[in-house]
Amino acid sequence: MDLIEKIKKLKEDRDAIILAHNYQLPEIQDIADFVGDSLELSRIAKNAKEKIIVFCGVHFMAETASILAPEKKVLLPDINSGCPLANMISPDDVKRLKREFPNAKVVAYINTSAEVKAESDYCCTSANAISVVEKVPSDEIIFIPDRNLGYYVSKHTNKKIYIWNGFCPTHQRILPQDIEKLKSKYPNAKVVVHPECRREVLDLADKIASTSGIIKFVKEDEGNEYIIGTEMGILHRLRKEVPEKIFYPASYLSVCPNMKKNTLEKVLWALEELNPEVKVPEPIRTRALKAIENMLNL
Ligand code: SF4
Repeated sequence: MDLIEKIKKLKEDRDAIILAHNYQLPEIQDIADFVGDSLELSRIAKNAKEKIIVFCGVHFMAETASILAPEKKVLLPDINSGCPLANMISPDDVKRLKREFPNAKVVAYINTSAEVKAESDYCCTSANAISVVEKVPSDEIIFIPDRNLGYYVSKHTNKKIYIWNGFCPTHQRILPQDIEKLKSKYPNAKVVVHPECRREVLDLADKIASTSGIIKFVKEDEGNEYIIGTEMGILHRLRKEVPEKIFYPASYLSVCPNMKKNTLEKVLWALEELNPEVKVPEPIRTRALKAIENMLNL
């Protein structure tokens, strides 16, 4: 409690806001001003009246907040909380793909570094990937970096899609056998999964949705039991916001070690030291912003 009180007091003194991704530790979600997905949180960062943003998430998310709100100081409590999926593609890889497929437009999932966004034509999120790809004025799309989200999109469009072979190691741990076992144990439970899951898992789902989409779906759906195929952190929010329903994690192994690097102690240190800061250099920021704006304009 002492630690939480200290964080709350320092947050006021520093004129800071704490944002937490849906995959953060429960105690981090509980002290946050807002809990949400990466784009939701970046938009909140942009519109916040506070000058300091403590972004409890992974590195590319803090970068996205810095791209959208360059006048603010964005702190990432653990600077080593990277995203292995985002790290699976480099700006040089994107340049090479553009040379290889000169007629295609590059659609980059938000889970990419600022440098990779800067080389891309459009960004997308897991919530809007299908509609972005459909609306991009080109019949050929280079889709980076997630192969499973790319597969999901490719099933909903007639466009030619060149998919980068990246994946999220955490979602990869959810296996079709896990879903099948739970389905036979809880036959009334609906299978709700994130599109970063393996394609064999996606093929078994009743509903495929982003983290915010999963929360919205279970709130509005008439069912009572759900098998949830995404990072375990979301279960805290689901059980808190929808206590009358039952949620089973598809796998207890789907824990993102990077997301869990942010702790209460590190949040307090970040507020005390105003460090570690994530700041995107201006020439990269403006180009990356263009890709995000292109998505929003679509
Ligand atoms: Fe990256 Fe996967 Fe962790 Fe999300 S859950 S931060 S995509 S490694």
